[in-house]
Amino acid sequence: MEERNLNFIEEIVEGYIAAGGGEIQTRFPPEPNGYLHIGHAKSICLNFGLAQRYGGRCNLRFDDTNPVKEDVEYVDSIKADIRWLGFDWALERYASDYFEQLYDWAVELIRKGKAYVDDQTQEQIRATRGTVTEPGVNSPWRERGVEENLDLFARMRAGEFADGAKVLRARIDMGHANMMFRDPILYRILHTSHHRTEDKWCIYPMYDFAHGQSDSIERITHSICTLEFAVHRPLYDWFIEELGIFPSHQYEFARLNLTYTMMSKRKLLQLVQQGVVGGWDDPRMPTISGMRRRGYTPASIRAFAERVGVARRDNVIDLGLLEFSVREDLNRVAQRRMAVVNPLKVVIVNFEEGFGGAAAGSGDVANVVPRGTSEGEVAEYEGRTEMVSCVNNPEDESAGVREVPLTREIYIERTDFMEEPPKGFHRLRPGGEVRLRYAYLIKCEEVVRDEAGEIVELRCTYDPASGSGGSSDGRRVKGVIHWVSAAHAVEGEARLYSTLFSKENPDDCGEGETFLDHLNPESLVVSKIFMEPSLASAAVGEAFQFERIGYFCKDGDSVSAGRPVFNRTVTLKDSWAKVQK
Ligand code: ATP
Ligand code: MG
Repeated sequence: MEERNLNFIEEIVEGYIAAGGGEIQTRFPPEPNGYLHIGHAKSICLNFGLAQRYGGRCNLRFDDTNPVKEDVEYVDSIKADIRWLGFDWALERYASDYFEQLYDWAVELIRKGKAYVDDQTQEQIRATRGTVTEPGVNSPWRERGVEENLDLFARMRAGEFADGAKVLRARIDMGHANMMFRDPILYRILHTSHHRTEDKWCIYPMYDFAHGQSDSIERITHSICTLEFAVHRPLYDWFIEELGIFPSHQYEFARLNLTYTMMSKRKLLQLVQQGVVGGWDDPRMPTISGMRRRGYTPASIRAFAERVGVARRDNVIDLGLLEFSVREDLNRVAQRRMAVVNPLKVVIVNFEEGFGGAAAGSGDVANVVPRGTSEGEVAEYEGRTEMVSCVNNPEDESAGVREVPLTREIYIERTDFMEEPPKGFHRLRPGGEVRLRYAYLIKCEEVVRDEAGEIVELRCTYDPASGSGGSSDGRRVKGVIHWVSAAHAVEGEARLYSTLFSKENPDDCGEGETFLDHLNPESLVVSKIFMEPSLASAAVGEAFQFERIGYFCKDGDSVSAGRPVFNRTVTLKDSWAKVQK
């Protein structure tokens, strides 16, 4: 583990262990009502990371107390995402595993005169809660006797009453300074089938009556959650104390917020349901599944979580930090390839001079090379084809080299040529020279236009003596550009992503606006791309650096699209470095 200062939760844990507290037990408690997002990843890294670091255990507990919004699809995706992030849980548990025990505890509170059945509607209850400055009003049913309450609660469970007809409330203090203590609702009636318990129950516990007790049952020593639960903590403690059960403790940290990113599951669901995105795993989504498809690696997400640290106060993290983290990881592990997004044809007019066709092919000059296509069909190219050795990953010598065909006609990036370039432009210009990456110097001799005046081709010459990095007369050339052989290029689709929202805080809404008014119309730009032949056989999910363009990974849509589809994970430009000064 790398050296760094302890965060405040680690300090608490170390204090606990130093005081003889023993093995720590944490848990990650998602509600299965949506897919996990990068904020959850932060919580996962924290909870599982603590258990790893201090030799403890971390459970996965589904907080499944609201059958209306929950589904097994979400349970399955959550488990897959946690495993993909590189973590494994000690126990897989569900709050619904504890429904019987929770029911018994509710009965115990009724017996102690600490809970009662209220016939008021939830609206009436809300209306009589009072405000921060005014006490609430006691329910007319607050003084029901224990026997009557026990009877009514049993009949609630038995299904005698309609949804909303009654609730079970704690009997604490309607004038309490902490509004959470103003006779909070413990159970509500919901005649809804649950994804696990099916129709066994028609009453369901509220979050506050389930979470702390579930922690206690699992003997969670450190129940870590986000700051908005701080106001719930006294109530969490109250139930544990009243019931005399294992004393779990809750600790709060600041939730992760990211610029240009929406992190509410409810709103992410809205994006999916309204078809704004292609699904929960749309590469523009901040979900773990979206990020995976986009090309993020588990290591990069864990490194990001570590860099963000654990804050006590709410803050907003620059999206650039996340991009920095994935760039850093991919720079280490991704192989380099050449691909051209916005092609301009270059004809190297003297490339075949002295080349006598098939008979003359020898040494490093092959005259027939299979053309790589996504269908694996082999087209033949009869002209001079020189195989150029290209380094797969300058950061990793063991990645070796690959051979890339160079021919008389190639594609270069349109933006790598300018007729009247500004000062400091080191790429190609009329009469100018540039180096083809890992190959020769070429010189632009002529610019060819179509009838509309658009540049359609550059006619260039190459310097045959410049193959090994030098030149025929020792002249030096600054610019290096990537290229692909036109005869061998594999055509594919590049999906160039930007932020889904154009506003730093998508929730910052003016009159009559919603976050949907801040969608970025250019969050996805689809472009044709011409790639070196080796990319035809890339595996779905495989990550590459397309030299000088960005990091890309192959999308599963390649199969249905009938051609390779590559998602841009992140550009090469490091905007985070600028942020850091
Ligand atoms: P949402 O409000 O988006 O539905 P949630 O907090 O209700 O999120 P849960 O499934 O209840 O979602 O969250 C599981 C755990 O992940 C909780 O402990 C929660 O505090 C934590 N968590 C959720 N969002 C974030 C976030 N942005 N940063 C850090 N932790 C988070
Ligand atoms: Mg929640």
